[in-house]
Amino acid sequence: MPINELKQRVRQIIRLLKRAYPNAKCSLNHANAFELLIATILSAQCTDARVNIVTQDLFRKYRKPEDYLKVSEKELQRDIRTTGFFRNKTKSIQGTAKVLTEQYGGIVPSTMDELLDLPGVARKTANVVLGNAFGISAGVVVDTHVTRLSHRLGLTKQKTAEKIEQDLIPIVPKKDWVIFPHLFIAHGRAICKARNPLCAECVVEKLCPSSYLKTGVMP
Ligand code: SF4
Repeated sequence: MPINELKQRVRQIIRLLKRAYPNAKCSLNHANAFELLIATILSAQCTDARVNIVTQDLFRKYRKPEDYLKVSEKELQRDIRTTGFFRNKTKSIQGTAKVLTEQYGGIVPSTMDELLDLPGVARKTANVVLGNAFGISAGVVVDTHVTRLSHRLGLTKQKTAEKIEQDLIPIVPKKDWVIFPHLFIAHGRAICKARNPLCAECVVEKLCPSSYLKTGVMP
């Protein structure tokens, strides 16, 4: 599809989803950029709901980067255990806390390059922090929901998050880069589920080439 038509389609999709999900926002509880950074590291391969349960106590115990360096690896592993992959996540969190303490005076930096230098921080985490804590549109967050919906809605054929993001950046208006993933996540959870999407109830059905109402095949 020509890029201008694709852009037009994306704008319509965003408009309809904003109407359907007026309260769509980051669902990881946080009070500042540092808490969002930790929550996002914990959210890898874990639901946001589970992360929010764990961070309720975690953020009371650990208030600043150096607090994570005062405990043993084993203790932090115990504190985040239920989010899964807790050994790697402990390494990332303590590594990140060390760099923040030693190089940034305990403050989370606000550029993509600086964030990507933190241990265990990849582009998705950096985008989440920049967009939601600093209001900076540096890219589009691509998670499992954004991947699935972008495929079904015909916005990309790419497989990796990095390449999908590169397809989305030219067709999603920059002012919507931060809200876009929240809209897709809300729609993915409510309607365009991984299994048995509810195409008959979908507000963007008319714009979707994968709708089973058109194809007769469950996407
Ligand atoms: S029509 Fe179906 S496949 Fe397409 S976005 Fe809606 S729920 Fe998903």
